[in-house]
Amino acid sequence: MPQPSSSTATPPAWWPSTALVLGSALSQAALALAGWQLIMAGQPVLSAVCALALVSLLVGTLSAWSALQQSLQTAHQLRAERDEARAAREQLQGALRCFPDALALFDAEDRLIIASDRYREMNPTIAPLLQPGVPFEHIIRTAAQAGEILEAIGHEDAWVKQRLAEHRTPRQDFLQALSENRWVRINECRTPDGGLIGLRTDVTDFVRQQQALQEARSDAQQARRLLVRALDALPVALEIFDEQDRLVIYNRALQRMFSHIDYPASVGRAFADMAAESLRHQVVLEAIGQEDAWLARRLEERQRLVNRTFLQAFSGERWVQAFETRTPENYIVAVRLDVSDMVKQRHALEAAQREGLRNRQLLMDAIEALPEGLAVYDADDKLLLCNTQYRQMYKDLSPLLQPGRSFEELNRYSQEQHHYADRPGQGPDWAALRLASHRQPGAALLVPMHDGRWYRVHERQTAERMTVGVHVDVTELVQKEQQLASANERLATLSVTDGLTGIHNRRSFDDAMAREWMRCQRHQLPLALLLVDIDHFKLYNDHYGHLAGDDCLRRVAQVLVGDVRRSGEIVARYGGEEFVILLPGSTEDGAREVAQRCLERMRTENIPHVASLTSSRLTMSIGAAACLPDAKSQPHALINAADAALYQAKQTGRARYVLASSLPPASDASNPPNWPPPPPHVAATPAS
Ligand code: GH3
Ligand code: MG
Ligand code: MG
Repeated sequence: MPQPSSSTATPPAWWPSTALVLGSALSQAALALAGWQLIMAGQPVLSAVCALALVSLLVGTLSAWSALQQSLQTAHQLRAERDEARAAREQLQGALRCFPDALALFDAEDRLIIASDRYREMNPTIAPLLQPGVPFEHIIRTAAQAGEILEAIGHEDAWVKQRLAEHRTPRQDFLQALSENRWVRINECRTPDGGLIGLRTDVTDFVRQQQALQEARSDAQQARRLLVRALDALPVALEIFDEQDRLVIYNRALQRMFSHIDYPASVGRAFADMAAESLRHQVVLEAIGQEDAWLARRLEERQRLVNRTFLQAFSGERWVQAFETRTPENYIVAVRLDVSDMVKQRHALEAAQREGLRNRQLLMDAIEALPEGLAVYDADDKLLLCNTQYRQMYKDLSPLLQPGRSFEELNRYSQEQHHYADRPGQGPDWAALRLASHRQPGAALLVPMHDGRWYRVHERQTAERMTVGVHVDVTELVQKEQQLASANERLATLSVTDGLTGIHNRRSFDDAMAREWMRCQRHQLPLALLLVDIDHFKLYNDHYGHLAGDDCLRRVAQVLVGDVRRSGEIVARYGGEEFVILLPGSTEDGAREVAQRCLERMRTENIPHVASLTSSRLTMSIGAAACLPDAKSQPHALINAADAALYQAKQTGRARYVLASSLPPASDASNPPNWPPPPPHVAATPAS
């Protein structure tokens, strides 16, 4: 390539000859002009000189013209060459313009020969500088100082130094960051003549794309790290398989769950391969012994998988709840949750429930085996259960005896249907009483039913506020109790009653005597006693017969009872045909009055006694006595006194009474009944 010359630094080649011609012509013209003026002024010497000068001028002009012509020719040639060079340069520029990369050519002294337009466009800051001949160092220093080269900012001189060093031994293909985030790839290579071709490719878009790609990759990696961390933080095990069922991602919980698999090394592994490994370790309990069939079934299910939840048993008593689902991208997301504790608890619960059912059945059997009725009501007083015996006992209620019925409802129904026996004085309040007793159970309750049956109800509240009631049919017991009570009552009556006459017997008299003696003693009251003996009763028996004698005794007893009315007074059979009348609070006068009335009533009774030695009618003799009981005296002293008086009555003719005039002294209280009485007061009843 021809060496271009600068228009300012080197003048054109035709210039000296042209200047010489013009200078010579101008000097000779000046000389001819001066000779002309001298001729005109009349100076011939000078005019000859001037003529010579003029001739010289002509000759000079001719030679100058010739030189000029030559110079013009040279200049023309030079112009043509220059045009040719410019054209060539423009052609080169045009060619470089078609070149996508920027190009600059430096000579062996590192001065710019040519820079393509693209080079200028790429470096607008230094574009005005890019003239041929500009040293490379000047170009890069200007660019660095303008802040165009990012890596040079702050240490421009050092950078220029280093860049120049590199420039001398150019390296191929390196990137340079420019301002405004522009990037160029620089390719420099030496030409054979020691020059350098520098190629600069704008790779801004490429680098930006690379940067974006890098950022995207970084973001993706960050997101993946986050995802992995999030997955690892999950309490459940998780694994994701791609559309070809290869492991894509897993979390730490999964690794812990299935420690027999090396998960970090298994990313990209097929599920089938990993499942087979699990089978080799015999961790899937349900697959043991049928591994191939299990795996085939598992893979087939996996192919058809949309959503699936299932429970798997693993070795070491581990249970895992698995959720597998297929994503729209045809991936499989599997979540596995260790539910061993839950399953164990469920198994324990089921066992407890079975045990509970068995116990309940045992309880029901035991309850059914009870001879008593049993009913259990819950805390809300609703029937929970009852046995058959209970239903039979309350068969009028049986249609209603269903679990859930309240006791109140059943009780009300029983009341309305008159299941309970009417209780005098209690009436409808009985149902209320029964309800209150049920709600606050205490002592056993006796429930009388309308059919004459009696139930004894023992109700208790449990800690759970349930009411357990045991219902015992005590009808026979109650009836026996009633019979026993009646018998006891009769027995009690009999024990104090004389069997023949129906009046108090001797024992009853003895009790009454002791009681009244004490009472009269305590209250300082008098006490009177009458001993009554039927006259010639042996003869009566002999004459009328013993049964008639018994009738006679009954009639005499009624005669005597008719005269005894006051409280505490009693008439008792003393023995055989003898009676005794106890008159608490009566003095001798009272005894006398009663004795007289008894004799009078006997006479009025008019019982025939034809065998009597005293009268044709039955008569009686009475011995009466009275005293003021004190601590020193004894009851039998009064009896003895009365007996003595009776003796007197018999001795003095019978059919009369004798009143003992005074009681014996206390020291004589132990004397026998036949103790001789003092002179008696005798009152006889006229014998007919
Ligand atoms: P006196 O006038 O002296 O009392 O003579 P008495 O015959 O009444 O007396 P005694 O003591 O000699 O006889 C009493 C009789 O009473 C003898 C007995 O057979 C009779 N007797 C006693 N208890 C009963 C009884 O429960 N029924 C009958 N029918 N007779 C009885
Ligand atoms: Mg007698
Ligand atoms: Mg007698």
